[in-house]
Amino acid sequence: MSVRCRIAPSPSGFLHIGTAKMALFNWLFARSQGGVFILRLEDTDAERTDEAYVEAMCEGFRWLGIDWDEGPAFGGVPEKGAYGPYRQSLRREAHRREAFRLLEEGKAYPCFCTKEELDAERERAAAEKRPYRYNGRCREIPPDEARRRMDSGEPFSIRLKTPGEGETVVRDLVQGDVRFDNREFDDFIILRPNGDPIFHLAVVADDAHMKITHVIRGDDHLTNTPRHIMLFEALGYPVPQFAHLPMVLDETGKKYSKRMHGANVLDWRDAGYLPEAIINYVVMLGWTPEEEGREFFTREELVRLFTIHRLNKSPARFDRARLDWLNGQHIRRLSPEDLRDRVLPILRAAGLDPDSRSPEWLTEMAAICQEKIPTLNHIVGYVDFFFRDITGYDEKAARKFFAQPDSPAWLEAALRAVSAAEPWTVDALKERFQAEAEAIGAKIGSVVNAARLALTGKPVGPGLYELTKLLGRETAQERLRQAAAYARQLAAAADKGDG
Ligand code: GLU
Repeated sequence: MSVRCRIAPSPSGFLHIGTAKMALFNWLFARSQGGVFILRLEDTDAERTDEAYVEAMCEGFRWLGIDWDEGPAFGGVPEKGAYGPYRQSLRREAHRREAFRLLEEGKAYPCFCTKEELDAERERAAAEKRPYRYNGRCREIPPDEARRRMDSGEPFSIRLKTPGEGETVVRDLVQGDVRFDNREFDDFIILRPNGDPIFHLAVVADDAHMKITHVIRGDDHLTNTPRHIMLFEALGYPVPQFAHLPMVLDETGKKYSKRMHGANVLDWRDAGYLPEAIINYVVMLGWTPEEEGREFFTREELVRLFTIHRLNKSPARFDRARLDWLNGQHIRRLSPEDLRDRVLPILRAAGLDPDSRSPEWLTEMAAICQEKIPTLNHIVGYVDFFFRDITGYDEKAARKFFAQPDSPAWLEAALRAVSAAEPWTVDALKERFQAEAEAIGAKIGSVVNAARLALTGKPVGPGLYELTKLLGRETAQERLRQAAAYARQLAAAADKGDG
């Protein structure tokens, strides 16, 4: 039997990191098994569902590269798959049919209790501090009478006849066998008087219809699962395999709140993270690879190596430092062309003009930052000086590198190196810088630091020889002259101060 898994989110605004985690494991499992991954929208909560929400959520999936084989139509993309519709709101009739079938088969019964009656019972239970359970009184109504009352138009809901004794065991691939006492479960409603299915019926009917073999979802659903098993069995469908995974916790160990930065998967895109890194990171939050201690995985490696039995039972806290490290690793793995293409929109958004440069130049620019930037967004601070004049120097660095007695000499040495380097290559620049530093008896580090500040305005950035080469000889000369003049001014001011 080939694997069929699904993610069944309620589209209520954006793709939450926790939903992304569940989607990822279903997707990975399907892909690793040559199976099918399905997107099903649980959009029955009409008030909270909006097409814009669907779009926003699916943008998150798309950004992560979680593609689905079957799923609903939206945003101009047609529905795909043979088990649709893939929107729960369009499956209401099917859910109703299943509920009525159970009624016909005597596995469910109509309940005529009014909301007021049930509320009163619930309140009484609360006052007596005991858990509320429906007492099953409508179960005792003789079938003829029940039929007559239904036919007369009296409102009724449909309740499943639950076993009331024995136990239901969830054979969970992650949690192990989890046993539930059936006395805990009353005859629960599956269809409301207005014909709306209850969540449990909708999920089970849809999973059965879509031939889902594995349900991988959050452990907040574990306590629903006995009811789902009862429904699968009553409806005569095979029970899928379950795997309940812990939720994603924030850095303080609490459930990752919707309101926090990063709860929305696209926050990470906006912060300059790669989808590859987010995938790698989120997978490592919930799965332990065979190869102990290994953390870095490409998407292809994850698909190849993923094993469902190594999913973790205990929740992992969000760890920003680990994510940042992984993001850096994934950035280093890109081809320079790929990195270039990913940073171009970021540079444009920052008001720089990368389109004034050739693709080759831009590739080199990306390449010289590749080892250094922790996120894509950091590129701006690493390359803005290529696109803008220097209008000021980092103050602390200026005191250190421009305000020393030898500063003018360092900058003049750098200027001579830049003027003499032939051909205009990184190697030739390196050689000239070293020679000029040696000629004045200065440490190479002093000349390099002073030159970097002169050329970029900052103390950190890409390698000096590399950036100088890309900046071009004339611009480099000009900036070094300007900095040397400034350093001489500082020296003159200091002299005056001394005297
Ligand atoms: N709509 C449910 C949720 O978002 C899905 C439940 C399930 O996966 O069965 O939690």
